[in-house]
Amino acid sequence: KQVILSCSPDILAQFPEDAAALQGNDGYAVLQKGNQLYILATRPHGIVNAVFRVLFKSSDIIWAFPEEEDGTFFTPNPNLSLAIVGLDIPKMTQRGWQLGFGRPNEFMWIVRQANNWSVHSAGGVNKLNDEWDMIKECLGGHNLNTVFISEKKYYATRPDFFPLINGERVKPSSKPYRTQLCFTNRDMIAAFKQEFDAQVKRHPTASIYRVMIEDNHDQCQCEACQADIVLPDGSVLTAKDPNFYSTRFFLFLNEIAEHTKANYPGKNLLCFAYFFTEIPPAIKIDPIIRVQFCPIFKNSKYPITAPQNKVTLDKFNAWLANTTNMTWREYYGLVLDFPRPVDTIAAEDFRYCLEHGVKRHFSEMENYDVERKQRTYGRGLAAWDCNAMYFWVLANLQWNPYQDVKAMRREFLNRVFKDAAPDLEQYFAMIEEKWLAGPTKSTWSTPAKAQWFEVTLNDKNVVDVLEGHLRQAEQKVRDPKAKDLLRRIRISFDLYKNKGRLPSMTIPRCEGEPPFDPDFAAAPWTKALTITEFCHQDSNKPYDDHPLQLKYLHDGENIYVGFRSTNPGIVKKINPKLRHGQLEALQLYFEVTPDKAVTPDQGPYNATAISLVGGLEIPNYTSPLPMVRKVKETPDGWSLWVKIAIRDTGFDPAAKKLRGLYSFRFWTGKNDNQWYDGFVGPKDAVYHVPVCFADMILE
Ligand SMILES: [Zn+2]
Repeated sequence: KQVILSCSPDILAQFPEDAAALQGNDGYAVLQKGNQLYILATRPHGIVNAVFRVLFKSSDIIWAFPEEEDGTFFTPNPNLSLAIVGLDIPKMTQRGWQLGFGRPNEFMWIVRQANNWSVHSAGGVNKLNDEWDMIKECLGGHNLNTVFISEKKYYATRPDFFPLINGERVKPSSKPYRTQLCFTNRDMIAAFKQEFDAQVKRHPTASIYRVMIEDNHDQCQCEACQADIVLPDGSVLTAKDPNFYSTRFFLFLNEIAEHTKANYPGKNLLCFAYFFTEIPPAIKIDPIIRVQFCPIFKNSKYPITAPQNKVTLDKFNAWLANTTNMTWREYYGLVLDFPRPVDTIAAEDFRYCLEHGVKRHFSEMENYDVERKQRTYGRGLAAWDCNAMYFWVLANLQWNPYQDVKAMRREFLNRVFKDAAPDLEQYFAMIEEKWLAGPTKSTWSTPAKAQWFEVTLNDKNVVDVLEGHLRQAEQKVRDPKAKDLLRRIRISFDLYKNKGRLPSMTIPRCEGEPPFDPDFAAAPWTKALTITEFCHQDSNKPYDDHPLQLKYLHDGENIYVGFRSTNPGIVKKINPKLRHGQLEALQLYFEVTPDKAVTPDQGPYNATAISLVGGLEIPNYTSPLPMVRKVKETPDGWSLWVKIAIRDTGFDPAAKKLRGLYSFRFWTGKNDNQWYDGFVGPKDAVYHVPVCFADMILE
């Protein structure tokens, strides 16, 4: 008896019908002819897929997470017989993960799930990628400044290639996420084409060249970039139109596409539909341009077809009307250490994509590239520990998104945990049920603590039931590797099960507006709610760099806040890396009613930060709440006085209750370009999720 693995045309010719079905895809066929078992594909990666899928179908093996030995579960079987599965063709042509840096263990986990795209596919220069015949693109991620128009080569002589913002041509190195380009500049476009030519020389065998906008919303404000765009049908687009900047970019990229077709026929371009290009342009894009649609603002609790994701769906559908040469590029695998059941949601998204002609997918996924002893809570291994089942389902769903997700989860649990599987199924099901019922939007950056809080709400019954399922599973699990995974699944549960609720803040009443007394030592501040204990985010360690004092009062209509930072000389200091140079700020959070939320999609709250010079920093994803503010430099630091009209939150002052939070933000100096990278506030606080805010009782 023989097993023959082949993609030779001569052998395929013996099976003409199967060979025809395998043309143009990386599926495979397992066929018996006489004493020979043929495993056939039309390209090497099809054989790779066959090996792993046939082994999976013929035994109880599972590659559960990216560790060669500890992550592989199977029962030894000296009499393995291979399943004759016939034709097995993937429904999605691109299946993959941007998993860490693609270290061998991460890369091989992807390959073993019959996926064909990893982070090395994007770079196109990796040996493993070639050896395993994975999809090959080149030039990597955000790359306008790194690959094409670099500051080093061009800024000194041609600053006009870079965007004009607030009167100056911005250097990419002056921004945390670099800069876009001046997309109308004819000389820049000519230089870009030359740089493109150089990249084709460098990657002569690639067929997909990436031209990826940088990771920011900035736009060139020069006259030419801001000028109205006259469309082919004669209509006019102005800079106020939502699709203006996307159109500006694709006018530029279509020109690069023309250059590509003229000089390198058969080669393709790839770009993002992300930030300002998430909205499709008002012009048709060239058919050689592949578009990676990145739904970064999508609510992961719901599929794209749900009303909660209408904004994203509208953009995606508008893109589909322009081109179907698209890739669905999600963030399903970025979850932190909460078991986030997005596999069912992904299945629906994948089906929507397939039914609209989009067959390519990849998502970002947590790294698995650190030593376990270096484990830190949050990202990476900690996230993998409680999400291994979901990640495995997500990876395998892409082959056929019409599979039964619950059955796939059961398959994972049975293969890894055997007798303990039913208890873990119930454990995960309860978390899923509670999580879906909660009000908080879930995205790639939603803190684990907030999601756990939503599941347990410090409810003893829920915690006890989950605890019971884990105990049952712990009594039944036998395999030492499974035991260890179960131990790790428990870690995040134990860490978060009784955490998150903040004590309520009772705010005393004053008559009329209290004065701005920089020491807040006189009446009525003497009877205010006074907070002097601040704790570091995550570590919960007390902040003891210098004294802080925060006071709250209300007069029935307004909230008054008094704040002092005792840090002599701080007002004169600057962070030289930043133009504004600000080093400290008080951030005030209030929940607002949905009608007051500017982008309800992002959660109905404000998060206004007031800096030591009185400047406001309002992240663009929260709802601005009007605040009257006064700032004074004092001999030993600075003081802040703030007034907020309760009605502006949308809540009735007569209800005598609000929900909110505070944090003190500062620059640690560890991160050159990032301002305010330190957060301190109430112990256990989660800052950007309203369900985790404290009740504020108005006395
Ligand atoms: Zn410009």
